[in-house]
Amino acid sequence: MEHNAKSGRRAFLRNSSVAAAGAALGLQAARAGEQAVTVARARGAPVADGAQFDVIVIGAGFAGLTAARDSAQRGAKTLLIEARNRIGGRTFTAEYAGAKLELGGTWIHWSQPFVWSEISRYGLEIEESPGFGAERMSWIAQGQLRHGKAGDVLRMMGEGLETFCNIDGQGGRTVFPRAHDPFFSRLVAKYDGLSMQDRLDQMEASADQRALAGAFVGLDCHNDPAVAGVVDQLKWWALGDFDASRMADKLGRFKFAQGTSALANAMLGEADVDLLLSTPVRAVRSEGQLTTVTAADGKRYLGKAVICTVPMNVLKTIAFTPPLSPAKRQASIEEHTGKGSKFYIHVRQKVGAWMGLAPYPNPMTAAWAERDLPDGTLLVAFAPPGKVEMNDHASVQRALRTLLPGVEVVAVTGYHWTEDPYSLGTWCMYRPGQFTRYLHALGEREGNIFFASADSANGWRGFIDGAIEGGSRAAREVSRYLHGA
Ligand SMILES: Cc1cc2nc3c(=O)[nH]c(=O)nc-3n(C[C@H](O)[C@H](O)[C@H](O)COP(=O)(O)OP(=O)(O)OC[C@H]3O[C@@H](n4cnc5c(N)ncnc54)[C@H](O)[C@@H]3O)c2cc1C
Repeated sequence: MEHNAKSGRRAFLRNSSVAAAGAALGLQAARAGEQAVTVARARGAPVADGAQFDVIVIGAGFAGLTAARDSAQRGAKTLLIEARNRIGGRTFTAEYAGAKLELGGTWIHWSQPFVWSEISRYGLEIEESPGFGAERMSWIAQGQLRHGKAGDVLRMMGEGLETFCNIDGQGGRTVFPRAHDPFFSRLVAKYDGLSMQDRLDQMEASADQRALAGAFVGLDCHNDPAVAGVVDQLKWWALGDFDASRMADKLGRFKFAQGTSALANAMLGEADVDLLLSTPVRAVRSEGQLTTVTAADGKRYLGKAVICTVPMNVLKTIAFTPPLSPAKRQASIEEHTGKGSKFYIHVRQKVGAWMGLAPYPNPMTAAWAERDLPDGTLLVAFAPPGKVEMNDHASVQRALRTLLPGVEVVAVTGYHWTEDPYSLGTWCMYRPGQFTRYLHALGEREGNIFFASADSANGWRGFIDGAIEGGSRAAREVSRYLHGA
C-alpha cells in the first residue's frame, strides 16, 4: 500500500510539467471552482478509508507543504489532503506566449526569511520582474488623469506614503519597532480601530500625494481602503524598512525564475507523505487522542494530530467538532479584505515601460507593462472587488481606458480566487480591529488540531513567506506534542 501511495505522488510530480503547460488558459479567465490545470491525480493512491496517521495536514499551499514535509522529516507518518487537483494553493504558475505567468502569489525577496531559506535549500533562481522599471506613469487625482516621469511620480507617492505611515510622528517606528513581533508595541491596539481611509482623510498631503498613496494602499488591501485596517499597512511599512522604495522592492521586484510551482514541487518532492488531491475535507472531529478527518466523499482518515492550513476565509466551511473557538469562526465569517482581482491583459498597443495607478473607487487600482509581445504588450492589473469582470473584455477595456485612453484589449486571463471555494479571497490584509482580535487566535492550537496559514503569520502575513513561517511553526509544535515534550 505504501509503495502505491508513493508512486501516486510520483505520478503527480512527473505530470506537474503538464500542469504548467496545461495552464495556458487560452486567455479565458478561469471560473470559480474550475481547475485551471489537468494533472494526473494522485487520488488513485490507495490510502484506505479509516487509515491512521501521526499527522494529517489539510491543504497543500505553502503552509501545508511546509508542515507536511517538516512533519515527515521529523519521523511522523503524514497524510497531506488537498481539495484542488493541484498543489500550491493561492499560487499558480501558468504560461502565456512562451513565458511564465503567476496567476496568484508572485513576488518574493531575500529579506523574507522563510521563503528565502527555501530558495537557498532548493537552489532556485529569482529574476527581476520586467514590469518593475516603469519610466512613465499615469495616475488619477481629483478625477483627472495625469502623466509624469516615473522618478517624479514615485517621489510624490513616496512622500504620500511617508505621511500616511507617520501616524506616531516617528515614521511608524513606534508601532512596529520589530516587524516580526506583531504585538511588541502597545500602539498596535491603539491604532487598530482606524481604517486606511480614516488615515488618508486625516493626513495632510497634496492631492497627488494623497491620490498616489491612496492607490498604493488600495492595491495593498485589494479592496476599498475604508474596509482595511491602517495597522496592516504600517506593518508592511515596517517590513519594508520604513522606506517607500525599499518596501516597493520587497513587494514587487523579484520573482521565481521557474515560477512558484518550482518551489511547491521541490517541497513536495522532499516530503515523504501520502498525498490525496481532489479531496475536499468536509469535517474534522476530535475525540480523545484521535481526530477524524472526513472528506467530501465520506472517506475518513484518523490522525493523532491535524494541521489545518485552509485560508482564514475558508475555515467556516469545514465542520469542526468541538466547534472552533468563537474568534476563529468570527474571523472567518468577517473575512480579510483581499477580495479584488489580479489579471493579465494583452493589449494591441506597444505601451513601453509604463505604470498606471488610481485610488478607490476607480475601477482599476494598478496596471503596468509586464512584457513586450510581438503584437502588443502584456499588462498585469489589479482591481478592487466588483469593479471589473475579467471574463468580459469590454469591462476590462473600459476600466483600463481610465488609465490608458484608447487602448485596445486583445485578451484577458486571470483566476477568480475570490469565488473559488478553497480560497474565497486573495492575500490577507485585516479589517479594522481584526489584528488585535484575531491574529493570535487564528494560529492558536485547539486540542490536537494545529493551525498554520499565511493569514495568521507573525512576520510577512499575507505572503508566501508567512505561509512557510506558519507551516514550519506548526510542524515544530506538533512534533513536540507527539513526543510529549
Ligand atoms: C492574486 C494573488 C496575488 C498574490 N501576490 C503575492 C505576492 O506577490 N507575493 C507573496 O508573497 N504573496 C502573494 N500572495 C499571497 C500568497 O500567495 C498567499 O498568502 C500564500 O500563498 C498562502 O499560502 P497558504 O498555504 O497559507 O494558503 P493557500 O495557498 O490558500 O493554501 C491552502 C490550501 O488549502 C486548500 N483547501 C481549502 N479548503 C480545503 C478543504 N476543505 N479541504 C482540503 N483542502 C482545502 C486549498 O485548496 C489550498 O491549496 C498573492 C495571492 C493572490 C491570490
